[in-house]
Amino acid sequence: MSSGNNISTSGQPSTVRQLFNNRVIRESQKVDNIKPNELLLDKVSVCRGDITVIDVDAIVNAANESLLGVDGAIHRAAGPELLKECRLLNGCDIGDAKITKGYKLPARHIIHTVGPVYHSEYEGTIAGQLASCYKRSLEVAVEKGLKSIAFPCISTGIFGYPNMKAAKIALTEIRRFLESDIGKQIEQVVFVVFLERDDKTYKELIPQIYPLTKTDVLAS
Ligand code: ADP
Repeated sequence: MSSGNNISTSGQPSTVRQLFNNRVIRESQKVDNIKPNELLLDKVSVCRGDITVIDVDAIVNAANESLLGVDGAIHRAAGPELLKECRLLNGCDIGDAKITKGYKLPARHIIHTVGPVYHSEYEGTIAGQLASCYKRSLEVAVEKGLKSIAFPCISTGIFGYPNMKAAKIALTEIRRFLESDIGKQIEQVVFVVFLERDDKTYKELIPQIYPLTKTDVLAS
């Protein structure tokens, strides 16, 4: 079963630039030391809904053994062949990622990553593991020559990571990767937010981590 609201469809992803242009998000005052990067405004999108219906080269699965949450939704939508291929993967460490085919999904591949279970006393280690889930998923995508990838909010469901902290890590790590040499190969990253709470959080944080360029401010 999916956790939370039972959403079976997804809206069209909106790029960060479209969110700014349509006034869904507004410039933030908290961007002093973060440089605008024009390219990222068109590469990064947000979409509320079900990741299993997104048409991209790869969707990321927040894998866990219970087959609940997004993992369960992905296995149900992809069909039983997926589990057979997963059994051949030889497990996956926390913070690592492994790829399978997408089977019945519109997405061609599934990148399975294992997020950390949240424990406040190990905050530093856990934050590093969560960042690694995003980085390794993107590295695997680049190794396969994939261009578009969609992420759920890893670890924020059953694994209990506070959603604001997790979103900050996700947005920051993706920006860092897209700005790295190998990251330039990725053309589209979609954050698929399932719950209203995460939708609000991403829209609050995006203007801080993906600020508009000066040109855009003047043009709007
Ligand atoms: P974890 O074990 O990593 O916490 P969960 O699947 O419990 O994984 O939750 C991760 C995130 O995925 C949560 O934000 C949850 O609301 C979201 N989620 C659940 N079902 C879907 C779905 N079908 N599409 C996209 N996101 C989903």
